[in-house]
Amino acid sequence: MSFTLASLPYGYDALEPHIDTTTMQIHHGKHHQAYVDNLNKAIAGTDYEQKTLDQINAIAGSISAAVRNNGGGHWNHSFFWESLAPNSGGLPSGNLADAINTAFGSFDEFKAKFANAGATRFGSGWAWLIVKEGKLEICSTPNQDNPLMDIAETKGTPILGVDVWEHAYYLKYQNKRADYLSAIWNVVNWNKVAERYNAAK
Ligand code: MN
Repeated sequence: MSFTLASLPYGYDALEPHIDTTTMQIHHGKHHQAYVDNLNKAIAGTDYEQKTLDQINAIAGSISAAVRNNGGGHWNHSFFWESLAPNSGGLPSGNLADAINTAFGSFDEFKAKFANAGATRFGSGWAWLIVKEGKLEICSTPNQDNPLMDIAETKGTPILGVDVWEHAYYLKYQNKRADYLSAIWNVVNWNKVAERYNAAK
């Protein structure tokens, strides 16, 4: 069995002006496609062909770098595209909003802490909002690791993930990762994040 790249759930231009069309085309069509292709190459003829991405995440610490990085890359990007949507952003609602206020004090404090996690991740990686033992936490991972991996410093169930690799923002924001992390709130799909929260808590 080989992995395949799903189409985006919206158009490449749908997140304009916050994430530009060219970035989305290259990010999904080239970068994500490459993770899928390289994952398929790395697992060809091995037992990993029978495994799901969740199973690969769970044993990431004891598998080859090629399977860990490309399996993580495929999982993370699939999760990222669904974390975003056109005509979204705004404020979370319901019990997710309550949980954010309880964990971080306010929505603004949550955003500041999340942006800080993304800004301080040296080099390439991801910022995450996770559910850990029923509570919300913010963390970050290097490269294409994620909090579902056995080797993650902070483990939990991700409900929001933001890619902070330069390829996610460089064309529009150049070196200004903080500006990208500020703009991303305009396109976060809080309905999806709430759905994940309710499934995970
Ligand atoms: Mn990426």
